[in-house]
Amino acid sequence: MSESQAKQMTWHKNGHRYHTDKIVHPADGEAWKKFDRDFTGFSMEARNVRIAIATDGFCPFGMGSSSYTCWPMFVIPLNLPPGVCMRQHNMFLTLIIPGPNYPGKHISVFMEPLVDELIHAWQQGVLTYDRATKTNFIMRVSFLYSIHDLPAYGIFYGWCVHGKMPCPTCMEALQGKRLKFGGKYSFFDCHRQFLPIDHSFRSDSNSFLSNTTVSNEPPLRLSGQEIRARLDNLVPAANGDKFVGYGKDHHWTHISSLWRLPYFHKLVLPHNIDVMHNEKNVAEAIFNTCFDIPDQTKDNVKARLDQAALCNRPELNLVQKHASSQWVKPRADFCLSRAQKKEVLEWFQTLKFPDGYGSNLRRGVNLKTMRINGLKSHDYHIMMERIFPVMFRGYLPTHVWEVLAEGGFY
Ligand SMILES: [Zn+2]
Repeated sequence: MSESQAKQMTWHKNGHRYHTDKIVHPADGEAWKKFDRDFTGFSMEARNVRIAIATDGFCPFGMGSSSYTCWPMFVIPLNLPPGVCMRQHNMFLTLIIPGPNYPGKHISVFMEPLVDELIHAWQQGVLTYDRATKTNFIMRVSFLYSIHDLPAYGIFYGWCVHGKMPCPTCMEALQGKRLKFGGKYSFFDCHRQFLPIDHSFRSDSNSFLSNTTVSNEPPLRLSGQEIRARLDNLVPAANGDKFVGYGKDHHWTHISSLWRLPYFHKLVLPHNIDVMHNEKNVAEAIFNTCFDIPDQTKDNVKARLDQAALCNRPELNLVQKHASSQWVKPRADFCLSRAQKKEVLEWFQTLKFPDGYGSNLRRGVNLKTMRINGLKSHDYHIMMERIFPVMFRGYLPTHVWEVLAEGGFY
């Protein structure tokens, strides 16, 4: 009903791109373009709407103490220009999944009404007035992707992302091994199979798992049809609510209601992970490990025992001076000394950012405990992409620094 907004709804197709080599809008990505090719009847009408669904758990009663979690679910029309697309007034609250418990696989049940509406909006469409051309047209809607963190990906998709087979894309083709001492599943050295077949790391039998080279190709990426066929073959287990083979052959927990969408199997990227969530965990682990923060460093005694069993890095093995003395953890080359930590944190206190770029990061520095407290997800995003490459330079050996600096480029 607004002329300017009606015009903006065709931006994805007609909007001017100043940098044609860059993805500035979801419409520049392959997932959108493939959908256009598959459904030309839909894509011919630029006013048809593509939507994303975004969700995360949220505690309405303040942070911390309460374990209450409710799930607001937002629908975002992606047709709009970048910048306008993600403004608050263009995000529509469609569902609130009430607390207090984690919805888990029941999220699909709560989503049924939304999926019903999406099917209606795809098949029948809605008679809509277009103020820009002063005409009526049948507006149709398609779901393009969902946006969430990895745990929510698990419940959206119906694949458990914890334990032995946590990757919903590689599925059973990527299995972790349980660490003897750490007790958790580890995916150490699962990454080499994704390298080009002639990459020198693949034939390196010393730097990764000891005495191991990698010659296999990466896991195949299944198409939507292939995944659908697998879901159709699942057999409910006689006892309980799981499927036969759960935890052994697969991690399917339920069949997501989104599969009811007639075009769902054609989507290339039905689910997206918000990178910032992962950046927080990775940046926190890097910081705690390089600063060797007790109880929080990933380089703990169990990790040293596991690496001794798996790798050939004798300089990291625990040592004992005498038969009766305590075992000692030799300092790793990725840890800063106390004097270096002090220098780095003092430098951190001098940091200034342009207005609106980030929060006041330097407030959290505590020189007594040698820690930085009170950082939020977005601060870790800045840490990862901008601060780590500078912060460790000159303090850590080049081969360590290079990895940390490259980490900010993804
Ligand atoms: Zn994977």
